[in-house]
Amino acid sequence: MTLQRPQSGVLYEQALAHIVGGVNSPSRSYKAVGGGAPVFMKRAEGAYFWDVDDNRYIDYLAAYGPIITGHAHPHITKAIVTAAQNGTLYGTPTELEITLARMLKEAIPSLDKVRFVNSGTEAVMTTIRVARAYTERTKIIKFAGCYHGHSDLVLVAAGSGPSTLGIPDSAGIPTSIAQEVITVPFNDLEALKLALDRWGDDTAAVMVEPIVGNFGMVMPHEGFLEGLCKLTREAGALVVYDEVISAFRFHYGAAQTYGIFPDRAAIEPDLTALGKIIGGGLPIGAYGGRKEIMEQVAPLGPAYQAGTMAGNPASISAGIACLELLQEPGIYDRMDKLAARLADGLLSAAKEHSIPLTVNQIRGSFSAHFCDHKVTNYDEAQDTDGERFAKFFRLMLDQGINLAPSKYEAWFMTTAHTTDDIDATIEAVRKAMAHL
Ligand code: PMP
Repeated sequence: MTLQRPQSGVLYEQALAHIVGGVNSPSRSYKAVGGGAPVFMKRAEGAYFWDVDDNRYIDYLAAYGPIITGHAHPHITKAIVTAAQNGTLYGTPTELEITLARMLKEAIPSLDKVRFVNSGTEAVMTTIRVARAYTERTKIIKFAGCYHGHSDLVLVAAGSGPSTLGIPDSAGIPTSIAQEVITVPFNDLEALKLALDRWGDDTAAVMVEPIVGNFGMVMPHEGFLEGLCKLTREAGALVVYDEVISAFRFHYGAAQTYGIFPDRAAIEPDLTALGKIIGGGLPIGAYGGRKEIMEQVAPLGPAYQAGTMAGNPASISAGIACLELLQEPGIYDRMDKLAARLADGLLSAAKEHSIPLTVNQIRGSFSAHFCDHKVTNYDEAQDTDGERFAKFFRLMLDQGINLAPSKYEAWFMTTAHTTDDIDATIEAVRKAMAHL
């Protein structure tokens, strides 16, 4: 089976004439996989997409993470319709915001207070401002390959989209700003210690994805988060977790509350940034943390942050509905089993054709790297076969399997995927691997 997509080609030409690069986010372009027209989708339901040529695809992109209950889930759709019927934007507080804030706090106890914003970028950007206001310091330490959105300070050695496109530092960011950021390798406490020895007195925050989702799915080594928190606090800086991808992805809670970390108190952050899943597929972000730090934020404190669209009833209602669905017992175990089945299928197909492949599975998500070594940091994720990935991506797409067009991105299971979907995908994988 090779799908034909003439209409996507026609629309891409039109898009190029009106929208920069034809896409509204660079990660949607196919630049990293050889270029050409990306598939234009027109409908999505459950685990499937249909494109403008009426081809059907099994989807593992999940819109880069948020769509954990599958597309157009009736419970979420109903919540959005009800919200729309009651007015989409008030510019006043609503009871809905209290409900979602309560749900987040119950699932993630480090959040004494939260504030809703519109994107992960905004959430992270504001945690940095708040950390700087609280500590009265300016520098930020981050980890190579971790992506924290597109605000100036964190677009330095960021993974995901920027690394795929080969622009680790964006143009338009003054050197003076980039100099406020120190980047160290993930999973390397020695490097963090050296950075803190040198710049600790000026460091406002150490920012990290506690479980990485942006150069593949990567777990912290045993003791890494504990050591990170200890060293950071000794330096008088704040620990900020970017849980935009990881919150509610692996269990009903965040990476910081995930049962595999034996001493939760030892890894608890001061501030957390959230997004994606907590909006059920509508635009959202949130940040929160310790009361005395969050009280830096206006109207209580001197750190300003605001938003016309923030906490809008549609996004908040979709978020509440999504979290309600995720409370169903066993729901994460089902996604875990599906991911394990698919990961096994990938590994055995690769083995059959003597293709080196490393799969990092974390519950219902995994990354697949064409290499014969482990992937535990950004260097190791970069040192993988991008050309082979590009070929694999296209062979899968032509068989109706939609992956992210980047070797760094994860495959996400949703509650809508079935064993049949997984087995059909494994069949496509076997055929693709035979042509690599
Ligand atoms: N942080 C992380 C960990 C992310 O993965 C992303 C987006 N992929 C962001 C922040 C930025 O979120 P948004 O695209 O909603 O601005």
